[in-house]
Amino acid sequence: MTAQIYALEITPRLPARIKRLDDLANNLYYSWTRSIRHLFSQIDPVCWQQTDDNPKLFLKRVSQAKMDAAITDPVFLADYDDACRHFDDYLAQPMPESIAKRIQPNDLIAYFCAEYGFHESLPIYSGGLGILAGDHCKAASDIGIPFVAVGLLYRQGYFKQTIDAQGNQIATYQDIDFTTLPIAPATDPKGNAVTIRLDFPGRVIEVKVWLAMIGRIRLFLLDTDLPGNSTDDRQITYRLYGGDRRTRIEQEIVLGIGGVRALRALGLAPTAWHINEGHAAFQILERLREHVSSGETETVALEMVASTTVFTTHTPVPAGHDVFTDVLMAEYFSSFWPQIKLDQESFLALGREPEGSGFNMTALALRGSRQHNGVSAIHGRVAAEMSRDFWPEVPANENPITHVTNGVHVDTFLAREFSQLFSSLHRDWRWNLREKSYWNFIDDIPEDRFWSVRCALKAELIREIRLRLSRQLSQDGLSDIRTERTLRYLDRPESDVLLVGFARRFATYKRANLIFRDRERLAKLLSDENRPIVFVFAGKAHPADEPGKGLIREIWQMANEPEFQGRILLLEGYDMALARKLVTGCDVWLNNPEYPLEASGTSGQKAGLNGVLNLSVADGWWGEGYQKQGQIANGWSIKPYNRSFNHDYCDTEEASDLLTLLESDVKPLFYQRDQNGLPNGWIKYAKMAIRTILPQFNSARMVCDYLTQHYLPASVYGRRLRQNNGAEALSLEDFKRRVLAAWPGVTGILISDVPAQIHSGDTLTLNVAVTLNGLNPEDIAVECLFGQDTPSGDWATVERFSTTVTATTTEHDASDGTQVYSFTLNIQLAGLQKFRFRIVPNHSAQLHPYELGLMKWI
Ligand SMILES: *Cc1c(COP(=O)(O)O)cnc(C)c1O
Repeated sequence: MTAQIYALEITPRLPARIKRLDDLANNLYYSWTRSIRHLFSQIDPVCWQQTDDNPKLFLKRVSQAKMDAAITDPVFLADYDDACRHFDDYLAQPMPESIAKRIQPNDLIAYFCAEYGFHESLPIYSGGLGILAGDHCKAASDIGIPFVAVGLLYRQGYFKQTIDAQGNQIATYQDIDFTTLPIAPATDPKGNAVTIRLDFPGRVIEVKVWLAMIGRIRLFLLDTDLPGNSTDDRQITYRLYGGDRRTRIEQEIVLGIGGVRALRALGLAPTAWHINEGHAAFQILERLREHVSSGETETVALEMVASTTVFTTHTPVPAGHDVFTDVLMAEYFSSFWPQIKLDQESFLALGREPEGSGFNMTALALRGSRQHNGVSAIHGRVAAEMSRDFWPEVPANENPITHVTNGVHVDTFLAREFSQLFSSLHRDWRWNLREKSYWNFIDDIPEDRFWSVRCALKAELIREIRLRLSRQLSQDGLSDIRTERTLRYLDRPESDVLLVGFARRFATYKRANLIFRDRERLAKLLSDENRPIVFVFAGKAHPADEPGKGLIREIWQMANEPEFQGRILLLEGYDMALARKLVTGCDVWLNNPEYPLEASGTSGQKAGLNGVLNLSVADGWWGEGYQKQGQIANGWSIKPYNRSFNHDYCDTEEASDLLTLLESDVKPLFYQRDQNGLPNGWIKYAKMAIRTILPQFNSARMVCDYLTQHYLPASVYGRRLRQNNGAEALSLEDFKRRVLAAWPGVTGILISDVPAQIHSGDTLTLNVAVTLNGLNPEDIAVECLFGQDTPSGDWATVERFSTTVTATTTEHDASDGTQVYSFTLNIQLAGLQKFRFRIVPNHSAQLHPYELGLMKWI
């Protein structure tokens, strides 16, 4: 018989002198403030390591003796006092004047996302989307805007990854003890803990609301793991992107509908609602229900909801969008659609793609928002093209989809060594993150000082790689000799190895194996013992993504081939901790996605602001990030080949261009040293990377763009539509209904003669007669566009004139329903010109002139 083993946790008492460690451990401010994390590690570095950089867990596990010793250490106490003061100063920091003056007293932005990545101690993220959402919250806190976020609290989070001796990814899930997370039950204004209820088929489920403080903004996390729910319902929020379609729809109902109810229970009334990726789009339905139950018609309600909603799409392929079958939708929503006064068909139509079937969350999000954007210039165009059928008569480049390019949170991803260096030169750099010319000071940093920071960061990474790989290989049962062989190039002085990093999700479009397409050529490039190159790979594949897991196996096999041993390394357990090390410590950051599938990509931004040089396909953010000024560039860019013919051919050519760049640009530049051993050319590139990438691709810039381009306009617009009992919303809804009905019968014709020639300075009068088919003259506008046909068959506009009439200024010949729209043009263009006319709907309360998707060329 085996004896029972009992467990008991003995937590120390926090001495009064340092009792605010508890505050510091309960605010994710620590996730971007290294001095606070350092404070905990000072108390007991070994325990800090064992508790995985988690301050709350650390405070439960550290010994009383270490705590008591800390309060007798004057250096520690001084650091503690500093940290508390910085924290208080941060919380009290006023908003910049330029932003504060534009914000109204009631403005509140609510941000919804299915995942958030702040720090490895809160594992509720899987990859780029979550970390972007985390960075968004951090920047909102830094600026101090009125902002709350909503997400799900996953009991098991995303999986932990190990890679076995055959290169198989092993996923393990562990229950997270919520008492070790920086969260607390959320309370309503009366101080009561908040739980909300949701109607599920044949039952009501309860959802608990948790609060995480992100600096000074609040993140509410929803959790169904409550004793009152059935075992199945308790598991709805167990795993991020886990389970089947049923789990997915249930999670999205909790997030979207539950999220709105949670905010209401907390007494909050957002004026702008941001849906970050389609997962959260059900919030539109709940807000429709609120409007309809207050007496609005369903169409006016939709106008109202959409007016204050901003939708960001991140997925450039249709297959990436969430689609639920009609049957599944009916099961979960048949008692819901009567509440918004819709029948089944019109309800399902809210999520129908123009040519598709099922209920598409992106379609719902597009219909329920007036502002929509992609996440880079290239992706904005791709998204506009993909969704063009939502505005069927409008050319994709003129439809309402715009872009806000992603950015990363500088304090989270900039290495401490650099932030200290910047602070020693310019104390106020954190308040100048959006001032491009301010960052020219980077060029003045002495080369040796700059390079010593880069070398220190690489040395730190190399230590980490050695540690991780030794552990990983010994787990796999490999001999010490083998381990030493694998690590042999990392034994040298760190400036003597060119370290290339590739770490991100192993999704097939990211083509982690592209570099191996010409194995011989790669082997030759890497065989130079005097000028070694080492590639380090890391990343997780979604557990259900077999091809993604295949990529991991393939890289593992390559790493074990004799010609690549020690030169190709694969690390397991990619998370934010490893990401921070990699993006600061590598020399080159490699990214070679299949164009145009990288919506933005953000890891390259993290690398770039640390002076790591991007070597990347010109896709996503790099399409606008890459710059060359004279002989100096901020990295290297691979032009994608036209994929409309043969993918295999493109892969081969792009792989070849990649190798060419490595052979003839990257490697020579790195190994070209002056008499002091400094790579002068490389340093110029690295400085340019920081100076051009940091002030452009950071999350402060991104959040300010969202604020000025989307959130504030949404708040203003929503207020406008609500005024006078919603008079404008009613007028707009009436206008849209009439225009949609009359549109097929609206026609126009040019009734003026066009002279063959006019002289510069002459005015030209052109009249267009429009048959209104019952519409009012002011319901439409006529546009005259000067421009050209393009080879692709589209029309490229050079100059646009628009004419509208108002009931008061124009006589309206009601007898035949025809109205003349007159252009008096004073054209500044020269030479032979072409022009066209088109009719478009016109109403002053439309947010976008073509939001109805109607446009008639005449
Ligand atoms: C930044 C980051 C990503 C995003 O990488 P991409 O370049 O967008 O593919 C993924 N995972 C982690 C842990 C990150 O820090």
